[in-house]
Amino acid sequence: MTKLPEINTQAMLDFLSELLKTPSPTGLAEPAIALTEHSLAAFQALQLARTRKGALVATWTGERDDLPRAVTAHADTLGAMVKEIKANGRLKLTRIGGFAWNTVEGEGVEVISSKGRRIRGSILLTRASSHVYGSEVNELKRDDGNIEVRLDARTGSEKETRDLGIEVGDFVAFDPRLEMTAGFIRSRHLDDKACVAVLVAAVKALADAGLKPAHTTTLFISNYEEVGHGAAAGIPADVEELVVVDMAAVGEGQTSDEFHASLCVKDSGGPYHHGLSEKLRHLAEDNHIPYRVDIYPFYGSDGEAFWSAGGDVAVALIGPGVDASHSYERTHTEALVATANWLVAYLLSE
Ligand SMILES: [Zn+2]
Repeated sequence: MTKLPEINTQAMLDFLSELLKTPSPTGLAEPAIALTEHSLAAFQALQLARTRKGALVATWTGERDDLPRAVTAHADTLGAMVKEIKANGRLKLTRIGGFAWNTVEGEGVEVISSKGRRIRGSILLTRASSHVYGSEVNELKRDDGNIEVRLDARTGSEKETRDLGIEVGDFVAFDPRLEMTAGFIRSRHLDDKACVAVLVAAVKALADAGLKPAHTTTLFISNYEEVGHGAAAGIPADVEELVVVDMAAVGEGQTSDEFHASLCVKDSGGPYHHGLSEKLRHLAEDNHIPYRVDIYPFYGSDGEAFWSAGGDVAVALIGPGVDASHSYERTHTEALVATANWLVAYLLSE
């Protein structure tokens, strides 16, 4: 196997950092989709389009056109929506995506009004002060009724909050709290912005080396993955293979870690495509890519969304190990580079 074109790690991290700082809860992922569109527009070989649902579709004509492929990652993230404006002026929330309230307790948020106005605040327990509520602070169940947003604005009533321009249905984005230290990347929403950055980095590596994919490839940047139907539509019906690039689940009993890319062979939706998974394993071995094979117990992907929607395609899933997924996530640059190299190897494979 010839040497793979090199990943520009700094450019990948710079783009990732910009993407992480761009709020994009499912339903309002447009700013992150637009940012990705802007960065892919730098590569003239790509033809960019949008689905009606707002996903980004980039098509790259390959050396061959008869066995097209697709690769996907998602730009939408977990978040919340204003469910009610309470009599005390604070906000009751409804969750977007699957996570536990305790993982965002105390987090800074941005409430994004329908007119685009942004108001800061934070997620707190309704009985947050231990000096006032004592042991209740420990004991109160973290559920929709006991969690609220305290706005950084002068309001003590429903009317005053409405006067700020806030209404039921406004989106609430959680602060990413990004820190990069000693190769580690700690941030919310690495799922799946890390992989969007990996995809862009793989495209850049090929394009900068004057290469193009072996087969015509559609890059699909999904905007409704966290609620289960992201890639249900928008991937061309004639693609032979779909490689989903999404985070690997790290924890007790898992083989995945923050320094490897993982191949997921089974998750909540059952086994992935054996032939395509085998092909990816061989590519990793041939190119000395540090990888693990794993099973994710509580996990779904856009590959299953496409399968469930009737996609007749071989689907496999790879991605960097992410610790504390759907909580305060962390990965390491090594896992991102491994995943990007793997993707490059796949794009160039016969
Ligand atoms: Zn994901």
